[in-house]
Amino acid sequence: MGKVMVVGSSNTDMVVTSARMPLAGETVLGNDFSMIPGGKGANQAVAAARAGAEVAFIAKTGADDFGRKAIEDYRKDGIRTDLILTDPRVASGVAMIVVDAANGQNSIVVAPGANSYLSPQDIQGHAASIGEVEVLLVQLEIPPESVRQALEIAKAAGVRTVLNPAPAQSLDDELLSLVDIITPNESETRILTGIDPVDDAAIRRAAGLLLEQVQEAVVITLGARGVFFQDQTAPGTFIPTREVQAIDTTAAGDVFNGYLAALLADGQEFQKAIRLANEAAGISVTRKGAQPSIPYWRELAG
Ligand code: AMP
Repeated sequence: MGKVMVVGSSNTDMVVTSARMPLAGETVLGNDFSMIPGGKGANQAVAAARAGAEVAFIAKTGADDFGRKAIEDYRKDGIRTDLILTDPRVASGVAMIVVDAANGQNSIVVAPGANSYLSPQDIQGHAASIGEVEVLLVQLEIPPESVRQALEIAKAAGVRTVLNPAPAQSLDDELLSLVDIITPNESETRILTGIDPVDDAAIRRAAGLLLEQVQEAVVITLGARGVFFQDQTAPGTFIPTREVQAIDTTAAGDVFNGYLAALLADGQEFQKAIRLANEAAGISVTRKGAQPSIPYWRELAG
């Protein structure tokens, strides 16, 4: 398997299920509490590791119990953690999640904490390690200038770059020109292109626009529909995914991206990598939670 570098966020999700959401100023008694490691960067690093890649993770935590526990968990997944920075002046990232038991909907407040302090200088300090991998995978839960720094270092070293543009935000042309492969979901596609991907024609138009800005390929994830894939060599194609009984789609996109990066780093053909990443993401939606739901390579039928 190949080497993947993930540069991104590390959070701890603190989840309480409640019979209903509290109103402003109200206290309600909830049900069980659980603490689950999360953050898009960390989820994708774990997914790439469980896909079998050799994964290194650049992130920043506080010098607190949440950060220490998260790093311990990444290590258990075989992820290289010596590049993770610790800042004693700030708290580790946390997400406070209340799940409404009546309809399964979430209300989430994220306190990014240390993730906001992962600076371009921090990334520059790890330039040599970024240059050693086959694929760099980044998202948008750390400062944009740090994402740019990681992409610049990777491009200069000839490393293939994957940007999962989540959470959704508009991006400048210069940053996109450093990206080889971009993997937006439907809402991110809308924010990036101004085109609502409501039907096949709109999806093709949006992918065409993005393909003019990135170097190699556009992969639009379409939930239960699978993905739309287009690269510079052929007309775009829809790649469907298996039908499953979805119970929790948290981190489905992260599983897809981690697997895709791992398989590309391993030298797999692009469409085959997408089919396997679809399968892994499809397994994750049949299970609850973020990192606990991420499948291992041996669970895939292939
Ligand atoms: P999304 O971010 O919702 O587009 O989902 C990312 C990927 O997860 C999709 O491309 C699918 O591979 C998988 N996925 C998401 N939702 C479902 C679902 N309901 N059933 C099967 N696969 C899903």
